Amino acid sequence: MAEKWLIGVDLGGTTTKLAFINYYGEILHKWEIPTDNSGEGKNITINIAKAIDRKLEELDLTKDKIIGLGMGAPGPVNLATGVVYNTVNLGWKDNYPLKDLLEVETSLPVIIDNDANCAALGEMWKGAGNGAKDLVCVTLGTGVGGGVIANGDIVQGVSGAAGEIGHITSVPLGGAQCNCGKTGCLETIASATGIVRQAIEKLQLSEAGELAKLYKENGHITAKDVFDTARLGDATSLSVVSDTALHLGLALANIANTLNPEKIVLGGGVSKAGDILLKPVVGNFAKFAFPRVRESTEIDIATLENDAGVIGAAWLAKNK
Ligand SMILES: [Zn+2]
Repeated sequence: MAEKWLIGVDLGGTTTKLAFINYYGEILHKWEIPTDNSGEGKNITINIAKAIDRKLEELDLTKDKIIGLGMGAPGPVNLATGVVYNTVNLGWKDNYPLKDLLEVETSLPVIIDNDANCAALGEMWKGAGNGAKDLVCVTLGTGVGGGVIANGDIVQGVSGAAGEIGHITSVPLGGAQCNCGKTGCLETIASATGIVRQAIEKLQLSEAGELAKLYKENGHITAKDVFDTARLGDATSLSVVSDTALHLGLALANIANTLNPEKIVLGGGVSKAGDILLKPVVGNFAKFAFPRVRESTEIDIATLENDAGVIGAAWLAKNK
């Protein structure tokens, strides 16, 4: 029998990543299409179906080759029904029946989960998780996403909202406003946006140093600027990194004290800062973790980068 393939889709606000993946989790073909969120997002599923048809045609293959499609979508998802509860940036109305629509458009069985959960599954299957069955994945990007895997499966919670690590309250009083409506969420500190926000706040108090110079010259700064200048010893940047590492290390320690996972994997653009962030995070983690947890739970940087989502989505198509 010829080898059958899985399709992994990672639906983002601006681009949609697609991949044909084999049963061993290896990517055979991957490509991207722009996400068209005009007209309340009505073209999104049609465009995905067309992209798959076009790619199969290009490879001179038919749909029999494909077993099923897994997709990671932003926002909380009902895994059983494939309904996305709410997503602001895709234009969809609340309770969007994504799985049903995609099954009609593609004539394939479809399974949908939250994108952060898919990233966690991807890291478990083929990435830094390296087969660990108890794993927590924290994606530090524009926001902060989380996925909790216990005993080899994603923890969904009663309403699909388990693992919302970005919305752990880190600053209980007087914290910054979060997109979710609360204040003081971890996301307002440890995301790229949160790091920039902290830096700009500190720059109001001190105009000395490399970061202040960059801000004056360019009119804006990025999280990467903060890490780059911290490496050069910039005092403002070092203080932002230190505060970020304190809140992140504390949150990770509390998660680990609850779950004692084998690994906590940090992914997303911010994790590319590497040791300058990882070392103080691990230091704070060690301070706040229960001794037995401290000795057994390891913190690592993700290894799959942008592929984690499609690989995790394909894992769902294979296993669910
Ligand atoms: Zn929040």
